[in-house]
Amino acid sequence: MKSLVTENHQVFVSKGPKKCHIITFGCQMNEYDSKTMAQLLMDDYQQTPFLEEADLILINTCSIREKAEHKLYSLLGRLKRLKKRNPTLKIGVCGCVAQQLGERLFERMAHVDLVIGPQGLYRLPILLKALEEGEKHITDTTLRDDFDIPFIDAPLPRVGDVRAYLTIMQGCNNFCTYCIVPYVRGREVSRPSEHIMKEIEGLIEQGVKDITLLGQNVNSYGRGLNENIDFTGLLKKIEKAFGKDIRLRFTTSHPKDLSDELIDCFKELQSLCEHLHLPVQSGSNSVLKRMNRHYTIEAYLEKLEKLRSLCPEITITTDLIVGFPGESRDDFQKTMELLKKVRYDQAFAFKYSERPGTPAVNFGQKVPEEEKSKRLNELLELQNQIGLEQYKKLEGKVVEVLVEGVKGDQLVGRTRGNHIVNIEGESELVGRIMNVYIEKACHHSLNGKVMH
Ligand code: SF4
Repeated sequence: MKSLVTENHQVFVSKGPKKCHIITFGCQMNEYDSKTMAQLLMDDYQQTPFLEEADLILINTCSIREKAEHKLYSLLGRLKRLKKRNPTLKIGVCGCVAQQLGERLFERMAHVDLVIGPQGLYRLPILLKALEEGEKHITDTTLRDDFDIPFIDAPLPRVGDVRAYLTIMQGCNNFCTYCIVPYVRGREVSRPSEHIMKEIEGLIEQGVKDITLLGQNVNSYGRGLNENIDFTGLLKKIEKAFGKDIRLRFTTSHPKDLSDELIDCFKELQSLCEHLHLPVQSGSNSVLKRMNRHYTIEAYLEKLEKLRSLCPEITITTDLIVGFPGESRDDFQKTMELLKKVRYDQAFAFKYSERPGTPAVNFGQKVPEEEKSKRLNELLELQNQIGLEQYKKLEGKVVEVLVEGVKGDQLVGRTRGNHIVNIEGESELVGRIMNVYIEKACHHSLNGKVMH
């Protein structure tokens, strides 16, 4: 009896004779990387939702969240039984945790065949061929300074989606003291704009209408490229070619690099949706300094003020860390004050947790777990109240909603401001932009009805 075993499995269209099951953990960038892997394997593998019938299982890991290693080991433990039953099964671990563990992974999990970091994934077909030819325990975790993101000249492996992610750059040069990304994804590398334009064209042909450009710090897009373009230049180029066909979003933007030109784009570009995710992390300047964030709260607020004066309807969301080493009760109160001042539509808040190999691991004045939990609960309570009040402002208004899919007996769509809207209606509306009357705001979503 076959069973659908992993909830993180992504379904892709593919045509090869063998079968592959890709499991994706973590961020949007990993989702994009898994799609790239499916694209690279398309000629040889078709995707299967069933672990039991796979010839190849790839686990795309993420180390941003806590306990990533533990999660990986427990999944690999389950897969060991599968490999015993089917010794020809190949198992590959990819992504950030693979980059961190490298060959050490084989010591604990000898049934794994392949360990590939984020840069190595583009060599997947070559590495799999080497495995077939009898090579064992292959690792590709080198982070190259001269790495370029290759263009994959193959059809996009997923059809029917209205939204898509598109990586425009990889890596990060910022070295925030809590973050593992620069160590596992390497330095910033941007993709040539022509590659991005071609990919957008392909997505539009497949019916995609809402595209999120991805990068660890999109504001530094273009550095090191052999063309004279920066991030606002890229947005304008996309607007000129496809402005009428798509909604455009981006994430993530570092507050220190949010330029006046980029802020102006929210007013000038029709395709750019009125939503900015601007991670602040803390409301205290001394904590920001220890985090190596290179901005002050005053400078951050000034940028938001300019943005809101140019684009009053913009939705603002953020990321927050509570209990960073040395965060006093007073520092925490400053974060609470910031929430009241900015009134974020949504905030993704986490307790600080150590990432081995990052500078913050060696910082003194650790905040006890119990205190971290207390602060997180206080913060979430305040933000839930503010978020609901922000969402309630849309009650009684008519907003443009792109209908993205069906959930149960309802349709689900998204406003330009990135609010999720549940709507009554028929599935033929999927893919269409409708005017929707908002009847009720809930925590993190809205309920509405289509205006005819
Ligand atoms: S900007 Fe900071 S938090 Fe973001 S990926 Fe780079 S190092 Fe990590």
